[in-house]
Formats: sequence, C-alpha cells, structure tokens
Amino acid sequence: MPELRIVTLTGADAALGETVVERFGLGLRGELLRPDGTAYEEARKLWNGLIDRHPALIARCAGVGDVIDSVNFAREHDLLLAVRGGGHNVAGNAVCDGGLVIDLSPMKGIRVDPERRSVRAESGATLGDLDRETQVFGLATPMGVVSETGIAGLTLGGGIGWLRRKHGLSSDNLLSADVVTADGRFLTASETENADLFWGVRGGGGNFGVVTSFEYRLHPVGPEVMFCFVLYPGNRTKEVLSFCQQYVAEEPEEVSPLAMVGRVPPVEMFPERWHGEPMVAVAAMYAGEAEKGERVLRPLRELGGTIADLGARMPYTVAQSLFDEDYPDGWRYYWKSHNISALNDEVIERLLIHAEAAPSPHSTVDVWYQGGAMSRIEASESAFGDRSAPIWIGVEANWEDTQDDEANIAWARECVADMRRFSGGGAYLNFAGFFEEGDRLIREAFGENHKRLVELKNKYDPTNLFRLNQNTRPTASEVH
Ligand code: FAD
Repeated sequence: MPELRIVTLTGADAALGETVVERFGLGLRGELLRPDGTAYEEARKLWNGLIDRHPALIARCAGVGDVIDSVNFAREHDLLLAVRGGGHNVAGNAVCDGGLVIDLSPMKGIRVDPERRSVRAESGATLGDLDRETQVFGLATPMGVVSETGIAGLTLGGGIGWLRRKHGLSSDNLLSADVVTADGRFLTASETENADLFWGVRGGGGNFGVVTSFEYRLHPVGPEVMFCFVLYPGNRTKEVLSFCQQYVAEEPEEVSPLAMVGRVPPVEMFPERWHGEPMVAVAAMYAGEAEKGERVLRPLRELGGTIADLGARMPYTVAQSLFDEDYPDGWRYYWKSHNISALNDEVIERLLIHAEAAPSPHSTVDVWYQGGAMSRIEASESAFGDRSAPIWIGVEANWEDTQDDEANIAWARECVADMRRFSGGGAYLNFAGFFEEGDRLIREAFGENHKRLVELKNKYDPTNLFRLNQNTRPTASEVH
C-alpha cells in the first residue's frame, strides 16, 4: 500500500497510509489537493514570491464541516498544520512544508443585516469582497488599505485602515466569531458566549482555533468619500511628517493619515521626470460626508510644491483598492514594524536616511498616525493590547528579483533595528511578518496581555496545534 510522506507537528518525517488519506478526502465537501497538477500548484502559491513551500495536503474547505474534519485529521495524525485565509501574511504561514493546509479561500459567504448594521462573513472573504456587499447599503467596517488582503488574518491580528481613528481596529468591531478549536469543537465567541475566547480572537492571532466566520458592526460610510493622495519631494519629508502630526492633533477623527517615505513609482500617473526620485506621500480618507471631506483634507494637499495630487471624490470601494497595484502577486516582500513613542526631528532624520538607502525603488518606510477611537480602548479589553503609541512604522522591503533578496532583507532588518531605540516597546504583528526575534517581539507586543494569552492557549490549544502564526506557546513542557 503506497504512503504519503508528511511532516509532523514537531517537524519529524513520517508517513500516512493511502487509505487514511483517501477516506479523509472523500469525506470533504471541498477538494483535497495532493502534490500533483495545476490546482495544487495554484493553491500552494502565496502572494509573497519569497515563500515556496510544498504541503503534503491542501484541504480546500467548502464549509464548517470540512474545517472540523481537517482539524481532527491534523490532530489525530500529528500533522503540521497551516491555516490560510486571504494568503496575504508576509511570513507565509498560510502554507507549510510537508503538512496539511486548511485553505479557507473557497468560503466567501457574506450576509449584511442593514437594520442591525452588522455583517457576517466567512473567513475566505477578502476586504474587497466584504466592501462590495456592505457598500450596497452605504455601510462599512474598518479594514485595511489593500482590497486583496484576507479579512481573517487581518482581523485576528487587529486590522488598521482608513477608518481606524473614527471607528477603531477591525477587531474592535467584531461582534462574534465562530471558531473550530483544536479538539474539533465548534464554538461561538462573543461578549456573552465563550467570552474568554472572544477576548483572545480580538488581536491574539490564529492561536486558539480556526475562525470559520466573523460578525462585524457596520457604520455609515460612503458610497462616495473624499480621498487625499498627494506626493511631495523627498527633501520636504521633515516638514510634511511634522505637519501631519500636528494635523491629527487638531483635525477630526474622520481622518486617519498614512505617510509613505520612498521613491516615486515609475508609473504613468506620476510625471516622468520624478520617476525614481525621493518622495514623501500622504494618503487619507475622510470617513464622513464627501463635501466636508474636501474642506477638511485640503491642508494636507496644500503644503506647496507637489509632485502630484491625485486627491478626489470617489466611491469608497475605489479608495479601498487604490493601492492594490502597488503589491503585485509574486513579487518578493519582507516587512517589519515598530511602534514609535514620538515623531521628533531625530526620528524623522533616521527614517529618511533608511528610506534613501533602500536597495529597491519599490520599498518604503510607512508612518501610520494613530489616536482617536482605536486608542481609547484599554489594553486589557482585548488580546490586541496597548495602543498608546502615536505612531506605528511599517518597514516594507518590496522587490522583484531573487538575486536582490539578501540586500533587501538586510535593509529592512537594519532599519527596524535602528528605529527600535525610538520605541517605547511593541510592534504591529500583522506587519511584522517574520519573527526572527522569536518570542521576544510577541511578548513585547502583547505586554501585560501575554500571560492571559498563555492561559487561553493552555485551555484551547494545549499541544500548540495552531503554531504557524504569531505564536503564543502553551506552557506544557512537552510542547516544542
Ligand atoms: P493569511 O496569510 O491567509 O493568514 C495569516 C495568518 O492568520 C495565518 O498564517 C493564520 O495563522 C491566521 N489565519 C488566517 N485565517 C485564519 C482563520 N480563519 N482562523 C484562524 N487563523 C487564521 N494589515 C492591516 O492591518 N492594515 C492594512 O492596511 C494592511 N495592508 C496590507 C497590504 C498588503 C499588500 C499585505 C500583504 C498585507 C497587509 N496587511 C495590512 C497585513 C495583513 O493584516 C496581514 O498580512 C494578515 O495576516 C493578512 O491576512 P490574510 O488572511 O490575508 O493572510
């Protein structure tokens, strides 16, 4: 009888009998893919071309039944397990070598309740899928800024976007989540049911089970919004970043700016003579009436000497996908993140030096201005933890060729290592991606909440079945 070579939870090689695998596959409503054919090749690929992994099995789940069977199968056969939502996590934890992938991407069902202002979405939905359905009713929940990202990984790790200062993180807007835990149980987590699990899935990552669907609170936003996207020459960076800081202190929470320090992309929408030149770009949406947004966003666009000003009124769904093209599938990506306690001149100077040293013209150092609704939530209220830092930086190394891997990875590491001294601690784990720092970064990011996360892990996943994530390790000594 032939066997399938697999990798166990602890990384050892082992074998599974053909009959066992066949029986598992026959029980699924979705497809079970094995290492042959184009469907497998497509399903193992991730957005980040840096990741090239070969799972033994990919369960393309069609519903909760498939997820429960897949979790049970992995646990019973001691299989290394990866969980895939939108497949956008930079570290590529959504696939593994030699183990089982629970692929949720076929599960995209979405139902809006316009009366209650809520939406339930299955975990394979992307931000674009969700916005498409909620915008029909002029409603939205806070998500990220690229429409191809998965709602699942993003929400489980927090989720920041254009609505964060007005309506909070994605995880702050969660009303409930359906979760398949490591022992194969199906639990609903909300303020009133399994409240400890509800606390954990709001920012604690995929540590406690596979979320099969999320229920979110909705807010009136759009369908038309005012969006600001303006580019200034790189030699104005200090002035522009400082102005944005003052702006968020004075202007309404409807605006959540993001500044990007890098080089002008060589694309038609920007004047050719500026292509490849240093720039600082400011992007922001007004999360309210578009006409008022034109007035409120004007100061960000009127600092003078712009390279390009693409600000305009547009449908919310268009604003939500404006940056999609900047992140093509299959390019190579290596990201890091750090919180910054104050954006003073020294911080800006260092940030500029690093941005200018980037080996790739597509790389940026991003400055996320925080505050408002997302920062009013106490650290202990959800697993996500402390939000007091006024600035979070994202260091994005984005490049095309394999031969440039080393230089780009080294750049991102050096930049974040240097910026670390300006941090009161903590990083945004959804951007941090690769965790070479091991537990240290994770403990630091969760702060006081880490202890409670370990207790939850001991309760819901004591053998660390769900380990390919921003992992909180259980205390059991036999666990690796
Ligand atoms: P996946 O790679 O599928 O999942 C990530 C991890 O989450 C998995 O490894 C798994 O551990 C866990 N997971 C996924 N689904 C489930 C589930 N259903 N149950 C349990 N665990 C699960 N973040 C922001 O906050 N704001 C942004 O604006 C933003 N922009 C981005 C733009 C781009 C181009 C990219 C690539 C990422 C961006 N991110 C942003 C980061 C993003 O939040 C994370 O990469 C997130 O992990 C993506 O979720 P996903 O479902 O697509 O990823």
